[in-house]
Amino acid sequence: MIRFETLLEKVRAYSPEADLELLRRAYVFSALEHKGQVRHSGEPYLVHPLEVADSLADMKLDVVAVAAGLLHDVVEDTLTTPERIQELFGKEIAHVVEGVTKIGAIPFSSSEERQAENFRKMLLAMVDDIRVILVKLADRLHNMRTLHHLPEERRIKIAQETLDIYAPIANRLGMSKVKNELEELSFKYLEPKAYESLRSKVEARRKNAEGVIEELTRTVRTRLEDAQIPIVTLDGRIKRLYSIHLKLTRQKIDLERVYDFVALRLITQSVKDCYAALGIIHQTWSPVPGRFKDFIAMPRPNGYQALHTSVISEHGFPFEVQIRTEEMHRRAEEGIAAHWKYKEGRVGDHRDERYFQWMRQLLEVQKEVRDPQEFLQNLKIDLYPEEVYIFTPKGEVRSLPRGATAVDFAYSVHTDVGNQCVGARINGRMVPLRTRLQNGDIVEIVTQSGHKPSRDWLSFVVTSRARSKIKHVLQAEERTRSVDLGRRLFDKEARRFGLNPATLLESPELAKFASEYGAKSSDELLAHIGYGKLAARTVLQKSTNGQLREDSSVVSVVRRVLRPGSSSDKIKVRGTDDVMVFRAKCCNPIRGERIVGYITRGKGVSVHSLGCPNVLNLMFDPERRIDVEWDSAGTDQAPYVVRLTMQVEDRKGMLAEISARVSDINTNITNMEARTGDDRQARIDMTVEIRDVKHLEKVIKSIKGVQGVLGVERTARA
Ligand code: MN
Repeated sequence: MIRFETLLEKVRAYSPEADLELLRRAYVFSALEHKGQVRHSGEPYLVHPLEVADSLADMKLDVVAVAAGLLHDVVEDTLTTPERIQELFGKEIAHVVEGVTKIGAIPFSSSEERQAENFRKMLLAMVDDIRVILVKLADRLHNMRTLHHLPEERRIKIAQETLDIYAPIANRLGMSKVKNELEELSFKYLEPKAYESLRSKVEARRKNAEGVIEELTRTVRTRLEDAQIPIVTLDGRIKRLYSIHLKLTRQKIDLERVYDFVALRLITQSVKDCYAALGIIHQTWSPVPGRFKDFIAMPRPNGYQALHTSVISEHGFPFEVQIRTEEMHRRAEEGIAAHWKYKEGRVGDHRDERYFQWMRQLLEVQKEVRDPQEFLQNLKIDLYPEEVYIFTPKGEVRSLPRGATAVDFAYSVHTDVGNQCVGARINGRMVPLRTRLQNGDIVEIVTQSGHKPSRDWLSFVVTSRARSKIKHVLQAEERTRSVDLGRRLFDKEARRFGLNPATLLESPELAKFASEYGAKSSDELLAHIGYGKLAARTVLQKSTNGQLREDSSVVSVVRRVLRPGSSSDKIKVRGTDDVMVFRAKCCNPIRGERIVGYITRGKGVSVHSLGCPNVLNLMFDPERRIDVEWDSAGTDQAPYVVRLTMQVEDRKGMLAEISARVSDINTNITNMEARTGDDRQARIDMTVEIRDVKHLEKVIKSIKGVQGVLGVERTARA
């Protein structure tokens, strides 16, 4: 356990002027408050805040941050109020402690909606005072280091959250040291088997790797000395297990060669020396085409700077080399923390602006996004900046995420440029708008005023900015169309009863109903009709105070259209009546499956299974999503028709055996066809009547149990 005096020494060493008395008071207070509490490890609780403060001191942060580290759990875990902290330690410390407490207050994975909300809070806290997030990261770091004391379920939950949220945030803030440790630890707890097997493989090759590193560094050293380029440090290292793991899974290969996991890192005295050293290395070994990256001239959005290259060793294997100056190295390790160091009352410098700008932009864009799932998705895109660098025709550089298209670029220039783009020229050549941009492309966008974005763009844009701007325009258009459609439906309905629709729309009864319904105008009410959320006849009835002349023939026609179809009686739609409900053909959901409803334009509600690939595309408009559930009432429901396709060994009696098994579990087979292919396999298509998802699982299981069945799949269309 670290001693408080050691912590004081550490702070004194980098900041002789620091108010150590304040730290001492914070320590004593924290010790008193946490007295008697123990952690899962059995250690006194105080160890935790002390370790957190120590990490913050390792980042060389100011006393406010270190004191906040000592006090960070006091409000959450004891009876102390934020006001009391402010009285004793001042406004700043109280503010940081409160921020950390707030972030910790809502459990992350309780539901997506709350998770998204929590993200927003965290981002707001960061914009407010970046030290909040630095303390939170130090807190998480210590919790991850001591994670083995927790029960498995909690371990996995915390590790997943760390990998999804905290590591990316550390990365985005340029704190690679913290990010790396969080990732390694998360990997260890999330995939213990893969971790252990990789660790022992690397361990077994360590000696060999050290020999390779030794040889490579010797060569570099000699060459650089010959060229009189001074070296600050040169070391070869074995890459982190998590990054090896990612590389291996991405390339679907196994760890065989040591070159897969060694890398050289060269620290030079100046930028000039970085480039000079790169030249020497490229003369010594052949560079791998496309792998050289100049992050010095074009830093990553998180501020990272270095030269990266891969070269082919004399043994024929590629390995990586990173070259940077001491200053770049320090900033790569510490990121934003490097700018928050104790500086005699001076706070931060202009380089902080980069991070704040990112957070502000993120918040600005996210404000427009109402759907929590989409918010998370966008945030993930923004947190993993795998970027390409694109030039405008004037030579300005813009960085975009990898995979970005001409449309993404257009929106990065200006919303109007994006909305009105009709074509793109890349390196002088006209290309389709969906073209993915490559590093170094010079992109010129052709616009036409009055042009509108197309829905199709959503299928290829990758930046959250482009996505949300396109949706914004589409939604506005959609609304206009829905109002039109709603008006037509309402007019038609009114005329059926010999009523004047225009008069009704301006009647006080209609206004009253609109406000009861929560619609701000009659247009909004019409939009609801157009969306299919509300029946035209309901509105008509309300606006005539329920005094419609009941003309039986007309009413029955209306009812027949609106009554739910026969196979959809079993789905309940929240808060609506008289809406037609149908199961989507694309995924043909069956009873018991998780489902979601989508309000179509004028055709009622289509119900998809949650895993249906169309759902993601359809759900671009959260307003149109509606909760649906299987109705548990009624037992004599008609069965669902499900088609199964199986791949089997081509042998005699196969068809008979499968049909016998399926019939054995009281399942009606309505059709069965077999087709023989080459390679002694056959395909069988079978149509069965299924009661619910459990029944389906049983059928699939019984088919799989037949010897010679290689695979069974549910075919999308019934
Ligand atoms: Mn804590």
